[in-house]
Amino acid sequence: MLAAGEALERLVRDVADFPEPGIVFKDITPLLADHVAFRTIVTALADAGRDADGRPVVDKVVGMEARGFILAAPVALALGVGFVPVRKAGKLPGETHAVAYALEYGEAVLEVHRDAIGVGERVLVIDDVLATGGTARATADLVAACGATVAAMAFLMELSFLPGRAAVGDVPMTTLAVV
Ligand code: AMP
Repeated sequence: MLAAGEALERLVRDVADFPEPGIVFKDITPLLADHVAFRTIVTALADAGRDADGRPVVDKVVGMEARGFILAAPVALALGVGFVPVRKAGKLPGETHAVAYALEYGEAVLEVHRDAIGVGERVLVIDDVLATGGTARATADLVAACGATVAAMAFLMELSFLPGRAAVGDVPMTTLAVV
């Protein structure tokens, strides 16, 4: 069985200067296309929501638009809990909480349905890449706005040259690879 780190090394493609000059984009589509590797990384991410005996310790799994959806939904099924999407502004039809956060140029807004996460619930947050940590921080703020707690966060990759981990603060964090 392929280990998660090996799957990422072999099947994540670096695309230079995408979506803009100077960015090395981590393209996970080759990994998703390999069902054995995909299963391996879903299993590894789901472990972030289990205790030492393998029991699920979260009530919801949250994924951020868009690649977070692809990973968080199967993680939720693996843990036997619900999946909650965090979306860009204006996409969710119901009543939402919204959080604005800084991008390199300008600002973005993320939203979650107010009734998607219950007060006191414990949440696992999943995304593909932790870069500056802005997206993860905003998502943690949305979970808090619902009256819930981020029990853990898990990412496929953490960019070593950016302070994402520090930006997120004091939350148990798993990254399957530091790149
Ligand atoms: P940040 O908010 O700066 O931590 O950026 C994280 C979000 O942007 C995640 O949802 C990632 O999918 C995406 N992202 C940031 N940097 C990259 C990268 N180098 N390759 C692929 N996705 C990235």
